Order: sequence, then C-alpha cells, then structure tokens
Amino acid sequence: MRLLAYIGIGSNLQNPVAQVQEAIAELGAIPDSILIARSSLYGSKPMGAAGQPDYVNAVVAIDTVLSPQALLQALQAIERRQGRERTGEKWGPRVLDLDLLLYGGRVINTAELTVPHPGLHERDFVLVPLEEIAGDINIPGRGTLSAFISRCENHSLRKLVVV
Ligand code: ATP
Ligand code: CA
Ligand code: CA
Repeated sequence: MRLLAYIGIGSNLQNPVAQVQEAIAELGAIPDSILIARSSLYGSKPMGAAGQPDYVNAVVAIDTVLSPQALLQALQAIERRQGRERTGEKWGPRVLDLDLLLYGGRVINTAELTVPHPGLHERDFVLVPLEEIAGDINIPGRGTLSAFISRCENHSLRKLVVV
C-alpha cells in the first residue's frame, strides 16, 4: 500500500547545505518511492554538546511502498554513503542524520524504530519545516502539529536563503 512518509534531515559537518541537498537528491532516488515535497532549508543551533557548528535542517515527504524497516535501512544506507560515523556521542556533530518522522498514520514501537519519531513534537527544527510541507497534520497518538509549534521553544531557527 502506498503511503506518505516524512523524513527529517540534519547536518552540521562538511558543508551542511550541500550535504542536505545531496541527501534530498538521494531520498528522491529510493526504490519504490517518489519524492512528493521538500521544505526550505533551515539553520538551527545544536541541541547536543556545545561548541559544535550550527545545523542545517529540512524535511521531505516521500510516497512509498517500502515497509518502515526497509525505509529505515534505506535512510541509514544514505547516511553511510555520505560518511556518517557513529561515535557513540549522543547528539554529537554529524555529516548527515536522517530520521523517519512519520509513516502514514502508523504508530510503531520496536527495538529499532519508534514512529512518530520521539523528538518530533519538541524540536522546532523539525516542526517548522514539517508544517511548511504538511500543513497542520495530526501526529498519531500525540495531537496536532500546530499545538506543538505554539508550545515549542524557539532555538533561533532561521530559514536559509540558498542561492
Ligand atoms: P534522535 O533520535 O534523538 O534524533 P539521533 O538521530 O542522533 O538522535 P541516531 O544515533 O541517529 O540518533 O539513531 C540511533 C537509533 O535510533 C538508530 O539506530 C535507529 O535504530 C533508532 N531509531 C528509532 N526510531 C527511529 C526513527 N523514527 N528514525 C530513525 N532512527 C530511529
Ligand atoms: Ca536525529
Ligand atoms: Ca537519527
């Protein structure tokens, strides 16, 4: 069955704007899937350890027939191809992070996958680009996107003008 999946993109190393643009192109090439929409690029302050560079973030929508597990594997393969290293440091700097935010209206809780993504509703750098392409959608089991945006602390998120 076809459904819409939303994917959050983040990068703060090795030319983050180019990394995010490359990731969007790669996401558009995932088998059995079609890129439906992409948000603007946003700049954000790091959530983890201080002293790391600012992040570039975006969100895309993909129409897919892949299972959530297959989609997560495709996301992790793209991360690896762009040189993501897993250092063990939580929220440390990274070339590319791809998170499965929403998978249709499904709620998933397995060892590898929590959907909706656990941090989605409290991160402005996810909520704002998501609203840009999805409007005021429902976050399954949690509530409406607009309610979370109005409650969310702004960590100096800014829309980037990319030329
Ligand atoms: P956060 O998940 O808080 O944004 P992070 O993106 O830095 O932190 P990672 O190190 O990239 O975390 O991922 C750790 C693990 O999270 C992955 O190995 C994956 O199995 C798991 N995971 C669970 N739910 C999801 C999801 N919805 N999207 C992506 N990964 C997920
Ligand atoms: Ca993440
Ligand atoms: Ca991740």
